Amino acid sequence: PTRDQVHNFAAGPSPLPTKCLEEAALGLLNYEDTGMGICELSHRGKEFKAVIEGAEADLRSLLQVPDNYTILFSQGGGTGQFSAVVLNLLAAHRLAHPVPAEEFKPPVLDYVLTGSWSSKAYAEAQRLCAPPFPNCPAFGQPRIAASTKSTSWTRLPSRDEYNFSKDAAYVYYCENETINGIEFPPKAEDKEAFPFDLVSEGVEIVADYSSSFISRPIPNFSRHAIIYAGAQKNLGPSGVTVLIVRNDLLVDTTEASKLGCIPAVPITYEYKILANNKSLYNTPPTFPIYVSALVLKHLIKNKGGLEGLEQTNREKAQTLYETLENAEKKGKAKLVVRDSSARSWMNVTFNIEGEGEEKKFLEGAEKRGFRQLKGHRSVGVLFADSEGFFFSAGIRASIYNAVTIESVKLLCDYINEFCN
Ligand code: PLP
Repeated sequence: PTRDQVHNFAAGPSPLPTKCLEEAALGLLNYEDTGMGICELSHRGKEFKAVIEGAEADLRSLLQVPDNYTILFSQGGGTGQFSAVVLNLLAAHRLAHPVPAEEFKPPVLDYVLTGSWSSKAYAEAQRLCAPPFPNCPAFGQPRIAASTKSTSWTRLPSRDEYNFSKDAAYVYYCENETINGIEFPPKAEDKEAFPFDLVSEGVEIVADYSSSFISRPIPNFSRHAIIYAGAQKNLGPSGVTVLIVRNDLLVDTTEASKLGCIPAVPITYEYKILANNKSLYNTPPTFPIYVSALVLKHLIKNKGGLEGLEQTNREKAQTLYETLENAEKKGKAKLVVRDSSARSWMNVTFNIEGEGEEKKFLEGAEKRGFRQLKGHRSVGVLFADSEGFFFSAGIRASIYNAVTIESVKLLCDYINEFCN
């Protein structure tokens, strides 16, 4: 099939605007009449410098990033940030507590667990903080501040379920859980909104926005210490990860580790090194940054900026959820996330009810050009995570920025037809 005969609902890497890919294809061969492709140009040359600086400026204007935050382009994916966040924030905390090593108490690191990705981030914090040898203190004390695991990640914690430590170095949450399809609602008055007001003053807040970045405004932006996102859902190809770091957290981790009691930070993961070198400390992923720059320009110029994106994304999500709610009333489908206000705008997870029906649904979908609708690899059978916990993701329609309302409506028509 051709590109326009297919509706791609992939969870990531995900579809990108055709217009941007066409432009990128030209730039891949001959970037702005240099006779050389963008991937063949030095990352320190004037051409690429203009690309990365343009991407930064456009992102700053699109998301209205305040001046006291630095935007960085890094490698290592969202998973790399599971580690980098721990290491950089332990270093910042250590510098803020320059007591002799024997008096230093490893800080608490509070994690909010709402699905697979926040759980992975927590597991990495536990791994990195563990004492490196017997009788040595831990580097930090990762702790669960709230978890909805016991209800199979099908809802978000209620306000009274949060139990934050007053003296934590930071609180960590994942804004949108890509696998489970659960997302914090955007307004403070929404029942399950992230409870910023319950986090003590002085405790930093870190958010993984990998699968909801630039889909709508970020609530309480300036309460965050770090916001990060892999590009491969809403922004560009995989390979680049965007970090937005409050400037006072760009700390010299080597100085911090000289004080003792914290691990060294791999040089390419130190935020300050990245910032001092304008994300060019070492060779960056030039092609993903180039495509991301094109996408940002496109979103600003043709998609109404963040307001336009929010409006379209809300409409897409509402249309699909309404269709699935109707199918659910008929007993033909079941939405995975039970609380409607906690349902992700980006990843819509559901099951088709009845023996063999899900398989039939997917086969029919494939014939109509709907692609990559299968849920996480857990799909179809119950899936056990590392601790033996079971859940099923069934079908997942990811409706990121580049998925059009027309594609969503066609999918709804098919769901209506199948579930009648
Ligand atoms: N966080 C979230 C919310 C994700 O969806 C993903 C990947 O899909 C990750 C983190 C991990 O990202 P990466 O695969 O880039 O390491």
